[in-house]
Amino acid sequence: MDKPSEEQLDVIGGGLAGSEAAWQAAERGLQVRLYEMRPRQMTPAHQSEYLAELVCSNSLGARQLDRALGLLKQELRRLGSMLLECAQETALPAGGALAVGRTAFARAVTARIQAHPRITVVREEIDRLPGGPAIVATGPLTSPALAQEIASWAGQEHLYFYDAMAPIVTAESVDMEVAFRASRYGRGGDDYINCPLDEQAYDRFVQALLSAETAPRREFEDPCFFEACLPVEEIARRGPQSLAYGPLRPVGLTDPRTGRRPYAVVQLRQDDLAGRLYNLVGFQTNLRWPDQRRVFRLIPGLEQAEFVRLGQMHRNTFLHSPALLQPSMQSRARQDLFFAGQLIGSEGYVGSIATGLLAGINAAGLLQGRPLCVLPQTTMLGALAAYLSGGDPRREFQPMKANFGLLPPLEPPVRGKRERYAAYARRALEALETFLQRERSQEAEDGRRD
Ligand SMILES: Cc1cc2nc3c(=O)[nH]c(=O)nc-3n(C[C@H](O)[C@H](O)[C@H](O)COP(=O)(O)OP(=O)(O)OC[C@H]3O[C@@H](n4cnc5c(N)ncnc54)[C@H](O)[C@@H]3O)c2cc1C
Repeated sequence: MDKPSEEQLDVIGGGLAGSEAAWQAAERGLQVRLYEMRPRQMTPAHQSEYLAELVCSNSLGARQLDRALGLLKQELRRLGSMLLECAQETALPAGGALAVGRTAFARAVTARIQAHPRITVVREEIDRLPGGPAIVATGPLTSPALAQEIASWAGQEHLYFYDAMAPIVTAESVDMEVAFRASRYGRGGDDYINCPLDEQAYDRFVQALLSAETAPRREFEDPCFFEACLPVEEIARRGPQSLAYGPLRPVGLTDPRTGRRPYAVVQLRQDDLAGRLYNLVGFQTNLRWPDQRRVFRLIPGLEQAEFVRLGQMHRNTFLHSPALLQPSMQSRARQDLFFAGQLIGSEGYVGSIATGLLAGINAAGLLQGRPLCVLPQTTMLGALAAYLSGGDPRREFQPMKANFGLLPPLEPPVRGKRERYAAYARRALEALETFLQRERSQEAEDGRRD
């Protein structure tokens, strides 16, 4: 690739994001020091000393292009992801999913990194943000000392230690024949989508919630003690009316179809700038995912809801990225400091690889004086980067997986979910090709000028 330079980059964290970032930067000519604290200091979830260890499932999600993760993986292949090459080499039969031999995958990544002439792996815990150019990719289980350091640098209010996430649905999947737009007491216009429940629907919902199965919690995932983030099923356990006086209270709302206040209301709040995604207000939950789909689809208006993420509650260190990051993964406050992976809320294995790749490419670009790579928002990676870094920096922020709800709508609209997703994928891959061609022509022109 590019010619070697003397520029030095530190990458902190040899997980999925950090390994991909280190590789991309080194391939572009930087000298990279990759700091990984394991095996000297383990996290509560990792089991080995390998780089890029998969801490739980061995699946990198769907292969098909008309699935969000399938599309993101295809984009990453086009962008030269080393981790996806290793995933391909170590793939196992798993139907429509890309599953890998967990140890074989981590070993393959470790071997490629260790053999790279411009990467030095340093097995050390870092507890200070480096003074020079760096990418921080220490993941959801960032060591406490570094987490404290990041919190003092970014501001305590910009680092979260616990995920208490409510499910998110696509706006287009809400049945607006049943739900209605309004804000409580008319304050704030039509900001919320409201799903009204009569007494019967409410009782049925509470019963289903109480009999649903919760996910087992791992030892290190302490329960959340704040009253404000009690799981919705816990609130329901406190008494049959506790939800009707809590997150489902109907006060200040009138159903325009009946002209009356509903018995209870589930409110949905806009979650992305474009208004394509909505979260269920106050619905942080620890229910198993299949049970969430089943129970939450009992809510009138959500019978056909498409969940782009489900609720969960677990330990998760992540930054309030919209206030701190640019779409290049650079911090707003320090040009030579990049962040990537689950730490910035790019949820999941493939999302972490993706933002690691972007941070690695851009750290090299910055140090070598090239324009930084900001992908079109019609690509899945461009849309994810825009979600993480864009919008109102004061907005509520939750980690996000790749999903079609992040992409701008199709013009003209396409009916039918599968056809629509296939059209999104075609448009994304065409936009990526155009972007890459433009980059190549620019490089060729720069080469001629030199
Ligand atoms: C318990 C658990 C289960 C998960 N299961 C899944 C799943 O099944 N599927 C999925 O898609 N996603 C899952 N995730 C979410 C997420 O995709 C993974 O955590 C993913 O590994 C994140 O990649 P990353 O590179 O950001 O962080 P990691 O892969 O965790 O890498 C971070 C690395 O930084 C190192 N490190 C931390 N602090 C320091 C320090 N101070 N100095 C040096 N090194 C440090 C760590 O040892 C680690 O190797 C899970 C997360 C958790 C916590």
